[in-house]
Amino acid sequence: MHWKDLSLKYIDYLRGACRYPFLMVGRTPLKNLSREPLGFRVLVVAAHPDDETLGAGVLLHRLRHLGVDVRVVFTTNGRGLDWKTPVRQQHATAICRLREAQSALGTLGLSPDVIDGLGFPDRGLHRYLSCAWKDISDCLASVSPHFVVTHGLEGGHRDHDVTSLIVQLVAAAQEVPVLEWAEYNRDFSLTDPMVGFPRNGGASSPLTLTMTEEEWQLKATALKAYQSQPESRHIGRRQEVFRWAQSRDAVEMLDACGGEPRVLKTLQQFGKSKLRNPYPVRQIEPPGNLLPLP
Ligand SMILES: [Zn+2]
Repeated sequence: MHWKDLSLKYIDYLRGACRYPFLMVGRTPLKNLSREPLGFRVLVVAAHPDDETLGAGVLLHRLRHLGVDVRVVFTTNGRGLDWKTPVRQQHATAICRLREAQSALGTLGLSPDVIDGLGFPDRGLHRYLSCAWKDISDCLASVSPHFVVTHGLEGGHRDHDVTSLIVQLVAAAQEVPVLEWAEYNRDFSLTDPMVGFPRNGGASSPLTLTMTEEEWQLKATALKAYQSQPESRHIGRRQEVFRWAQSRDAVEMLDACGGEPRVLKTLQQFGKSKLRNPYPVRQIEPPGNLLPLP
């Protein structure tokens, strides 16, 4: 790991902002994830509170409408970029973002007791890859979802890509299909009226969910709950775009990640340490049509 990341990790440890797993800003007890899962189950893993609604809000609403047991877990605490912020203030920010998520997801039909946070530092998930791997493995094992919904490996925000990478690797090992959502990347910005995956990234064909007027309004209402994230509250898009994760060469997956060279180097080292034979990563094909898309 780069000296800069090691230093930040050490500072967060000394200040009590991130001492895995017992003292972490924004970490919830994860008791909701160990609750007995019922019926058809979907686990959503997002990097920050707001990503799940931006990327898949209407899909989650449709799944809930069908009676699917949807659980949501955030990998980071959304504390913001500045690690110098007093830890007490970081706690307040993390609580605020979790409450916003409860409110937004409540609008979409989810109850607060299905939402959890792992509490890794915002913009610093790549410093805790082994810990995040363990947590996500535990989440998948306890929820035993029929499929997982997460960020696309699309070269957008580095926490998004790291979350997607870990979820895809863990899900492949546990033989669970993964559905990726497109959020923003080099070809589509967050404010573009259209959304999609990078034009030359990945072989599987995208699945488009086109919103009804009512769904669009519902999503706009849900996003308004994110008062602390003014840029997320803009919604012009009338569709959500997904794809089933395909079996891919691990090197190709790493190439699809965004981030500074030091972050990519950390990911490469982690990939080599975790995967005995990292090429290829075999994803499970979803059985039949699992998605409520028209
Ligand atoms: Zn995000």
